[in-house]
Amino acid sequence: MSEIREVRARKILDSRGNPTIKAIVYTGDAVASACAPSGASVGRFEAQAFPRGGVDESINMIESLSNVLKGMSVDDQASVDEAIRMFDGTENFSRLGGNAAIATSVAVAKAAAAIRGIPLCKYFSAQLETPFPLSNIIGGGVHTKGKSIDFQEFLVLPVGARSFSEAVDVNVMVHREVSYMLTARLPKYVLGKNDEGAWAAPLSVREALEILSSAAQKVEGETGVKIRIGIDAAASGIWSSEKKAYVYRKEGFEKTSEQQLEYISSLIEEYGIAYFEDPFHEEDFDSFAKLKTSLGGKCIVTGDDLTVTNEKRIRKATESNAINAVIIKPNQIGTLTDTRMAVELALSKKITPVASHRSGETCDPALAHIAIGMKCPVIKIGIMGGERMAKINEIMRIEEELRVKMAKPPV
Ligand code: PEP
Ligand code: MG
Repeated sequence: MSEIREVRARKILDSRGNPTIKAIVYTGDAVASACAPSGASVGRFEAQAFPRGGVDESINMIESLSNVLKGMSVDDQASVDEAIRMFDGTENFSRLGGNAAIATSVAVAKAAAAIRGIPLCKYFSAQLETPFPLSNIIGGGVHTKGKSIDFQEFLVLPVGARSFSEAVDVNVMVHREVSYMLTARLPKYVLGKNDEGAWAAPLSVREALEILSSAAQKVEGETGVKIRIGIDAAASGIWSSEKKAYVYRKEGFEKTSEQQLEYISSLIEEYGIAYFEDPFHEEDFDSFAKLKTSLGGKCIVTGDDLTVTNEKRIRKATESNAINAVIIKPNQIGTLTDTRMAVELALSKKITPVASHRSGETCDPALAHIAIGMKCPVIKIGIMGGERMAKINEIMRIEEELRVKMAKPPV
């Protein structure tokens, strides 16, 4: 029996200890649940994670949503997602909360897969590919306490890996190597990890890039696996609309949009950066386009806060020639149907969809299935912490048990 009997919800805590939501879908034949993560550097155009009354209000709303979904088939994801949208009735899920919406939507898909006796990724597609893991090694921005690095994430992408498990081994080695280098460089400093398990250290952007590059080169030499480096600047977080400038609080300088473009371009050239996410703020499609035109052949220019997994914004970004990759965060948009539309639009425009975790995560491995089943060639998933490992270990298991091959390297 694939009809929904009831949907319930619980308050749970995410990896930062903040309340979030778990939705549980009951059918005659299956019970399935899904948990929603939460971001800290949240884009202005994202779905609102929770209504004004927070998780408790979402939980109350799910009691009413349950009556709407009751009797619908879990096999009809599009109709279920449409019913969730209609029930909320707002553009940005401000009544139900995008987190309640996505948790319900994913739980419905998990119930459908369970009834068929197949893994969730196979429910999404018969043809599977494992993604390349893009891992956060050194962290700053709002994911890190104190006056940390002005950019949010310093990442590695092991483009030469032949399997996901090999890629993960390489990323773990780089994470470890960076800890040795930071200890040697900052002997009086007690090293710590930030919200995503990346190393937190008092560094400038260039110092972080130097350490990351040397660690990546060392591991590349030891393993023979080609490793490229990347950045998520999360530049909306340092943009001041009053000053019309990017404010680098740690390093004590400011940059106009033109100066930011020059700065980002020089970093890409000097350090051979292969991936650059949100180098400009969430409304500056023009600067993205300028960067992509000049350096998009060398470096993947990626939208996150710019595009927020929203088909309309991704379309605008492609029409303005602003990006060659796009972050896919299901809770930014609120349903699986919308997530799939965003991925399919990206693939049809030859833009790389990058499935991504949030900084506040849960141990739900669904993102791993979304990346594999919807064919995102890259997954940004972190490399340390149980909530990140839940997804990594799931991909390694699927790779081995279902003998899934790697996607084509994105660079
Ligand atoms: C990001 O900006 O890519 C990210 C993962 O951070 P958050 O979840 O805080 O938006
Ligand atoms: Mg980002």
